[in-house]
Amino acid sequence: MRRKVIAGNWKMNGTLPETEKLLSGLLADKSIGDTATVVVCPPFTSLLQASKILHGSRIALGAQDMSAHEKGAYTGEVSAAMLLTVGAHFVILGHSERRQYHAEPSALVNAKAKLALKLGLTPIVCIGETLAEREAGQTEAVLGTQVEESLFGFTAEELGRAVIAYEPVWAIGTGRVASPEMAEEAHAYVRRLLKKIDPATADRVSILYGGSVKADNAKALLRQTDIDGALVGGASLSAEEFLNIVHSV
Ligand code: PEP
Repeated sequence: MRRKVIAGNWKMNGTLPETEKLLSGLLADKSIGDTATVVVCPPFTSLLQASKILHGSRIALGAQDMSAHEKGAYTGEVSAAMLLTVGAHFVILGHSERRQYHAEPSALVNAKAKLALKLGLTPIVCIGETLAEREAGQTEAVLGTQVEESLFGFTAEELGRAVIAYEPVWAIGTGRVASPEMAEEAHAYVRRLLKKIDPATADRVSILYGGSVKADNAKALLRQTDIDGALVGGASLSAEEFLNIVHSV
């Protein structure tokens, strides 16, 4: 049985007052965490406050990125150890907005993921094709390369501690969601790729779908065999909408 994970990627949203308001909305639901691992990923500046608010709750904390370096002269970067000291357990890596706007290649995502695992953080490794790549029939080739490079050198044990997020770039923030069948096809393919690392472990890895997930499309997506949860952007900024997604598990 794979664990279901619903993770909210707040992106560059969440001042301290906004963080407090959104989290108190989520905490009002006492059943949160009954059916899925629920994770919120606020911006770095809100992590400590979020950690204090969530202390003792069943909502886990994640960050949206981290440095590939352990410490040192890397201005503007945030290390894995810093994330751990503020109580984060998860970290999103290789989000398409990092790949696209910050030119992050899969090799860098790989270095970050290996370091996250070494220090005890759970990486949520994002992969996904662009619209042009899908239309050119390159989806499987793109996913193949991203998985191979982002998870390069992973042992079975490391794979077993990672979470993968399939996020077709054309569906992120566009309101254009992949159909459940289309998403399932990609997820099943990604799982076959993971089996090259270790077949038994691949069956236990949670693969989340991301891309315009809302309360009204979550149920059909989450019913698919290989869809083990969701990475939610825009809809995670409303407590009501995010809770409805959590309850569709
Ligand atoms: C995301 O940022 O990971 C995402 C899936 O965004 P949205 O849900 O807004 O499409």
